[in-house]
Amino acid sequence: MSTNLRSLPLHMNNKQTEKLKFDKNHVWHPYTSMVNPLPSYLVESAQGVHINLASGEKLVDGMSSWWSVLHGYNHPELNKALVTQSDKFSHVMFGGLTHEPAIDLCNTLIELTPSGLNKVFLSDSGSVSVEVALKMSLQYWHSKNKPEKHKILTVKNGYHGDTFAAMAVCDPVNGMHQLFEPVLMKNLFAPAPTIAFHQEWNDTDVEELSAMFAKHHNEIAAFIIEPIVQGAGGMRMYHPNYLKACRDLCDQYNVLMIVDEIATGLGRTGKLFACEWADISPDIICLGKTLTGGYMTLAATLCTDEIANSISNGEAGCFMHGPTFMGNPLACAVANASLAILKRNQWQQQISTMERMLKDQLLPLINHVRVKDTRVLGGIGVVEATENVNMEAIQKRFVEMGVWIRPFGKLIYIMPPFITNEEQLTLLNNAIGKVLDDDTCFHRN
Ligand SMILES: *Cc1c(COP(=O)(O)O)cnc(C)c1O
Repeated sequence: MSTNLRSLPLHMNNKQTEKLKFDKNHVWHPYTSMVNPLPSYLVESAQGVHINLASGEKLVDGMSSWWSVLHGYNHPELNKALVTQSDKFSHVMFGGLTHEPAIDLCNTLIELTPSGLNKVFLSDSGSVSVEVALKMSLQYWHSKNKPEKHKILTVKNGYHGDTFAAMAVCDPVNGMHQLFEPVLMKNLFAPAPTIAFHQEWNDTDVEELSAMFAKHHNEIAAFIIEPIVQGAGGMRMYHPNYLKACRDLCDQYNVLMIVDEIATGLGRTGKLFACEWADISPDIICLGKTLTGGYMTLAATLCTDEIANSISNGEAGCFMHGPTFMGNPLACAVANASLAILKRNQWQQQISTMERMLKDQLLPLINHVRVKDTRVLGGIGVVEATENVNMEAIQKRFVEMGVWIRPFGKLIYIMPPFITNEEQLTLLNNAIGKVLDDDTCFHRN
């Protein structure tokens, strides 16, 4: 057994060291090797914007635990929502039974999301909400007697989740599609948007996409895209006119438009939904990550009345999906509490302050020799390096500096909890500036 603990923090007690050793040898982490895993840090507690490690470090969280933590960790109102609900019931099946936490959540989601999205399907994770959206599209066209419309059109550099149908609309190269080639749905990929959010618009950016719609619309069930920000596929922010053009093309060619707001939804980009930058409503929207303020896993797929009614009048007579933990009351209760905090509307001020500081402190890093690009939108700040990071070294450096930032590839990026104050944000931004000066944090190309 590998007992290489050289890079793990040193001042933990024996029991904690043993637990980490077990973790290293037996516990699979996201996208990691079991043969040569990079070290994981043992978390003891988290409070506000801080993640507290067993080894004693107190880290300002720059990642919001992958976009999800909006109002901070260990929030009294969110804690209370969970306790209150668990005193009543933690779970009941959703087949034949319903409950107020789910009803209230669906009501709020219909009210908040772009107009026309009136039917809500709850599920457990973002990937599943994408599966649900894709299944809805296929069942919709089947009910319309157009089963030949069964392909999905999307753009490159996208990320929509790790399950099979969701993976089949992720970027084929980033998603290593060749590994799964025999079983993966064969979808259509247009080039990724190239004109950035703040650049001047030019219609040439949608030329190839338009051509693909024109050529293939008879076989396309739906077009799926992350609105404005392509997240895990490259952290790129594209022009709102691109999204507007997508809506027009979907209308023109009778293709359903699915918008994946799992990362962008609920304020992160400076609008409640990123769709609002282009002033569009999709036919189907996917929500996840941010929904419970980072407390529990929960996702939702909303669609129009037309889609829901057609599916229900189709051959199956119902939508063919139903997760065991659908509408979990604890998750719904904490989502309701998180949305109630959001509705008090401090998020706009929080995000605009964050955006101003990210612009002031991160954008100038463009002058650093190791930086290829810097970009900021709302509460998202990205520094694209010229070289891949050395994950183990850079992670250690960040922890030493009291921040939690987890880059991937050449991308060092943050999307801190909305409650992050100016001092904490400065600490995050400065830490990014400092790792750029440190050769050991990067691999030579
Ligand atoms: C994270 C993410 C998903 C997948 O959500 P999971 O909860 O990890 O399954 C899908 N789409 C987007 C845009 C995401 O950021």
